[in-house]
Amino acid sequence: MRPFTYARPDDAEAAVATVGADPGAVFLAGGTNLLDHLKLGVATPSSVVDLGRVTSTAITELDDGGDGDGDGDGDGAARSSTTRSGLRIGAGALNSDVAAHPLVRRRYPALAQALLAGASGQLRNMATTGGNLLQRTRCVYFADTTTPCTKRDLTQPCSAREGWTRYHAILGASEHCLATHPSDMAVALVALDATVQVLGADGTRTLPVAELHRLPGDDPTHDTVLRHGELITAVDLPASPIAARSAYRKVRDRASYAFALVSVAAALGVREGTVADVRIALGGVAPKPWRATRAEDALRGAPATDESYRAAARAELADADPVESPLGGNRFKLDLVVGALTDTLRRLTEEQHS
Ligand SMILES: Cc1cc2nc3c(=O)[nH]c(=O)nc-3n(C[C@H](O)[C@H](O)[C@H](O)COP(=O)(O)OP(=O)(O)OC[C@H]3O[C@@H](n4cnc5c(N)ncnc54)[C@H](O)[C@@H]3O)c2cc1C
Ligand code: SF4
Repeated sequence: MRPFTYARPDDAEAAVATVGADPGAVFLAGGTNLLDHLKLGVATPSSVVDLGRVTSTAITELDDGGDGDGDGDGDGAARSSTTRSGLRIGAGALNSDVAAHPLVRRRYPALAQALLAGASGQLRNMATTGGNLLQRTRCVYFADTTTPCTKRDLTQPCSAREGWTRYHAILGASEHCLATHPSDMAVALVALDATVQVLGADGTRTLPVAELHRLPGDDPTHDTVLRHGELITAVDLPASPIAARSAYRKVRDRASYAFALVSVAAALGVREGTVADVRIALGGVAPKPWRATRAEDALRGAPATDESYRAAARAELADADPVESPLGGNRFKLDLVVGALTDTLRRLTEEQHS
């Protein structure tokens, strides 16, 4: 038994103050990731601060993708309404509720599809928006405290480098860690240009989801740029016509209940056979949701054809560094990325012709 204290504050400021005052304290949302880590000994907090009464579960319309007050309650949207607006998703909104919300399904189909591709119905009924973004890697060595892991302990070597790397990164890794970020939802949010609202001891700030997670570099122990005690209060999706023409494709070892080997979130606008606008993010290939800017640059103004889509995927992979490991590497992901991206963009192209 490892003793820890438990607190259930009534508001966000109290939660931030409680965690901020104790370097060993953590937030608890749905618990579907954190409680496993408590049982496995991967997380050993001195204090657990329950967000059950703290984070909003509301999904509200925003006039411009942000109400500006950063408190996650969407009251800015109530003050000014427009018919074509962005959405604010409270950090406490459940994955199942977000996936089923009519405005999410209509305006941001890639997000609804990504959520439904994750975990299981039971888990999605517990998992929250904030917790999903901050779930930790599924690298098997990270979860197994009998094997060394630099992400758990900076003084230990990485077991994956010479081990099992089927689910590991081909982009953005370092010699210290090649674990991938596991969230499907985060990949869709990055492609959709979402931002997170963050509350800390010094007030609120807004971050693009694309800049929330960090690459491992010399220190893989921190997955994000959040400071200790900072609370995600909401995710904002900007108003965007192209987002309604988006999709999420997940390639995995089993049809359900499996993390992505490779995934693609894309939004595509085609005009007269040419790519007018495009947004792409990749999952399962990097330590963070990977915005595929090289592929996007290659595609803008290009013919909307499979040939262009394949060439764009290869451009994105120019710096890929797959692992040749004794237990089977992950070079196969190169072809999976090319196939999954081409297939996703082809389907979006066909939908715009039908
Ligand atoms: C068997 C299984 C299969 C799964 N399959 C998938 C899958 O295919 N795809 C996928 O994407 N996910 C999958 N998941 C992961 C699941 O989606 C996450 O566990 C879940 O989204 C985490 O949300 P939570 O609310 O339960 O977070 P918690 O477990 O409560 O918290 C996770 C982390 O986030 C922090 N945190 C939570 N909320 C906040 C906040 N508002 N501000 C700051 N910090 C916060 C906590 O301190 C903790 O570090 C799977 C999980 C399991 C157990
Ligand atoms: S890849 Fe990262 S998480 Fe996995 S064992 Fe190595 S350091 Fe740990």
